[in-house]
Amino acid sequence: MKSLIEVNNLTKKYGNHEAVRNLSFRVEKGQIYGFLGPNGAGKSTTMNIITGYLCATEGTVTINGHDIFKEPEKAKENIGYLPELPPLYQDMTVLEYMKFVAELKKLEKSSRSDQISEAMEMTGVAEVSSRLIKNLSKGYRQRVGFAQAILGYPEIIILDEPTVGLDPKQIIEIRDLIKKLGENHTIILSSHILSEVSAVCDQILIMSKGQLVANDTPENLAMMLKGNHSISLLVNGGESGIYDVLKKLEQIQDFNVSARPDSALCQVSISLSEQSEEEIAGIEEAVFYALAAAKMPIHEMKTTHASLEDVFLELTSSDFNPEAADTEAAADIIETVEAAADTVEAAETAETVQTEEDDNHAGNL
Ligand code: ADP
Ligand code: MG
Repeated sequence: MKSLIEVNNLTKKYGNHEAVRNLSFRVEKGQIYGFLGPNGAGKSTTMNIITGYLCATEGTVTINGHDIFKEPEKAKENIGYLPELPPLYQDMTVLEYMKFVAELKKLEKSSRSDQISEAMEMTGVAEVSSRLIKNLSKGYRQRVGFAQAILGYPEIIILDEPTVGLDPKQIIEIRDLIKKLGENHTIILSSHILSEVSAVCDQILIMSKGQLVANDTPENLAMMLKGNHSISLLVNGGESGIYDVLKKLEQIQDFNVSARPDSALCQVSISLSEQSEEEIAGIEEAVFYALAAAKMPIHEMKTTHASLEDVFLELTSSDFNPEAADTEAAADIIETVEAAADTVEAAETAETVQTEEDDNHAGNL
């Protein structure tokens, strides 16, 4: 069966620099897809190619069976796009702007005003329809961007970093709007922030240095680092005694006991594989009772679950090279993904200034 979007071996070079390398993926109807990756990973480039605003160096993209390079008009009919920098005309009112977009999209004249009203209702900008765009808050401007994207009922909505620059309240509102749009549309959104993508997406595509490094559900991605799941304990007892007790537990295969210097406590680490949460709880209890029966009190027990954040950091860690962020800042990435993203963002801003001259994204709509 044909997928709604089929991307095959897509490569985009800017001079010698490969911004996107041999990218292949499919998008099925009705799902919300998230492109996740640090700044500079190639998300915007990919979106600009899929939406027909940038040509590819190699590869093919078909939208609903139409080749975006050979039949751009037909392919684009299926897509509503909100680029990273929405092309809003500041001196138009919201309604004037929507009429202008309807003209560009060549919407049927008879149903034009109904379609405009519907798009404005859906995105919550109807009440500001007579306001000048330049006088709107950033959150409302972003909603107007959404309104122009969904005008004309495109099947696919593509949103490039739709929550960047918004405050937390606006982010939640936009997230809700994305979920609402997801009921009737297929959505692809990009973000460099993991929590953003995992909050709304059914499928996550992680990009790093122009390549796809993962394409899976949030749940499966979280399972990927299964080797990193473990139970760690501090136990009051002798090394060999603890070893003998744990060896008798059949739920445990792989564990390690090491005495702590200058202390009666031993550090124990039990590796987990693909156990469910229930099974893990069962192991924790078995360990508790076995050590208690042997009079070896547990002083501390904690289970570390590999999180999506770990997966993201592991898969994209090579992005953080000394050119993108200084080494000290790069060390901080272990703290949180958001912190890392912001660090690189600063470096990216500098880079953007540098590459602005040959930037050919201008005039997107
Ligand atoms: P993302 O959206 O994931 O932050 P981009 O697709 O914007 O990434 O950029 C991918 C890479 O391509 C980056 O290294 C960026 O500097 C480079 N790049 C993007 N646009 C241009 C351009 N017009 N000219 C030269 N290099 C570019
Ligand atoms: Mg981008």
